[in-house]
Amino acid sequence: MRVIVLGAGLLGVTSAYYLQQQGHEVTVIDRQATPGAETSFANGGQISVSHAEPWANPSAPLKVLQWLGQEDAPLLFRLRADMRQWLWGLSFLRNCTPERTRHNIRQIVSLGTYSRSALQQLRRDTGIQYDQRTQGILHFYTDPKEFDGALGPAEQMRQLGCERQVISADEAVRIEPALRHIRPQLAGATYTAEDESGDANLFVRELAKLCKQAGVRFQMGAHITALRTAGGEIDHVELTNAEGRFERMRGDAYVLAMGSFSPLLAQPLGIRLPIYPAKGYSVTLPVKDARLAHQVSLTDDEYKLVFSRYTSAQGDRLRIAGTAELNGYDRNLNQVRCEAIVRRVEQLFPGAGDTTRAEFWTGLRPATPSNVPLIGRTQLPNLFLNTGHGTLGWTHSCGSGKALADIVSGRVPEVDFAFTGMPQTPQPRLLPAV
Ligand SMILES: Cc1cc2nc3c(=O)[nH]c(=O)nc-3n(C[C@H](O)[C@H](O)[C@H](O)COP(=O)(O)OP(=O)(O)OC[C@H]3O[C@@H](n4cnc5c(N)ncnc54)[C@H](O)[C@@H]3O)c2cc1C
Repeated sequence: MRVIVLGAGLLGVTSAYYLQQQGHEVTVIDRQATPGAETSFANGGQISVSHAEPWANPSAPLKVLQWLGQEDAPLLFRLRADMRQWLWGLSFLRNCTPERTRHNIRQIVSLGTYSRSALQQLRRDTGIQYDQRTQGILHFYTDPKEFDGALGPAEQMRQLGCERQVISADEAVRIEPALRHIRPQLAGATYTAEDESGDANLFVRELAKLCKQAGVRFQMGAHITALRTAGGEIDHVELTNAEGRFERMRGDAYVLAMGSFSPLLAQPLGIRLPIYPAKGYSVTLPVKDARLAHQVSLTDDEYKLVFSRYTSAQGDRLRIAGTAELNGYDRNLNQVRCEAIVRRVEQLFPGAGDTTRAEFWTGLRPATPSNVPLIGRTQLPNLFLNTGHGTLGWTHSCGSGKALADIVSGRVPEVDFAFTGMPQTPQPRLLPAV
């Protein structure tokens, strides 16, 4: 089959890889000059099956209210006259019940475990290198109440097969000695030895090279403007190519993997995807003193920040990422947020990173209200989705790409997940018409 993948981020490129592996003729289209240049550019780097608590959970509504208007809040709703934002917010609230939270955690852990194995297999098959580390993820808590609150979800994740162990503050410092500076503030931690980290942007660019060698075509610098239908299915995609000329491209199947921009292309087709951009920040610092820098990938619960370290012959860098702002498609850097992240890094690991050479970045997570991505069929028989991966698009990329390729090929994916448009699940979870 000729398959056209729309978007060359993590989800588009992993889809292309697995589709090509299954014998399809694949073309990837993206407006950027290189793959992974938008949200997959400078994320937190964690392959974190253990990071499965969705933003929408029973404690979220109160916290979100308290954080309203607070410039450095971990999750900030900037209320706008934007119907899509309000509908997303309502659906977010509906996902905060204990039952929905448990259901969503089950989906996220199941896809995460499958995806981490798929990544490990891909690494064995191809030898791909992306500054990966396989020393696990340590999630530390400085608020005893939050630590107590984490015990329930950690137990649920263990029941689902994710080995997230609850450990004491002393054990946390033994696993990651760089945490010694904040030992007195540590309330406790969880540790998932099987989790990993790595530079997602390097991964996506290297994987795109492997795809090209295998015959996948990349049409970069091409702005997709519309999907057109005929006879109840997608007939062609319209784009403005790198030379500024209008083009039509035809395939047998189309995969929508345009991250936060997917709903904009789907909406004219009557498919309203519940995806809203959630702006996140990252800071990248060269390591100044390697002995003071962390080795293990970390999650700072209080500040909702994740920490990864990328070490290769090209250099040694710290990547710190997090915070979420629901404010439309704005990608501007907010100085208050940038400074808050750098301050926290200095508090935790004083002298480890060169803060004078900090590189700041923002990206738009394609967030669904449930944190569960949209993968599978749509009501148009030759249009498929691999989008809405929000906070965990790197963690879920290989598993989503592999499962999507199975669905396009008419196979049943090996993972237990509520794919869209499959017999056991409804059509794509749509927002009411606006
Ligand atoms: C601060 C931050 C930290 C994060 N940390 C982690 C982490 O530690 N672990 C984890 O698992 N996940 C993390 N994520 C999430 C992860 O980065 C995203 O879920 C993932 O990158 C989404 O990939 P995507 O392919 O869906 O979207 P994108 O990477 O945005 O790809 C979509 C592509 O579509 C293209 N496109 C869009 N519109 C058009 C158009 N009209 N025409 C042509 N091309 C178009 C874009 O150019 C882009 O390349 C983080 C995200 C952020 C923002």
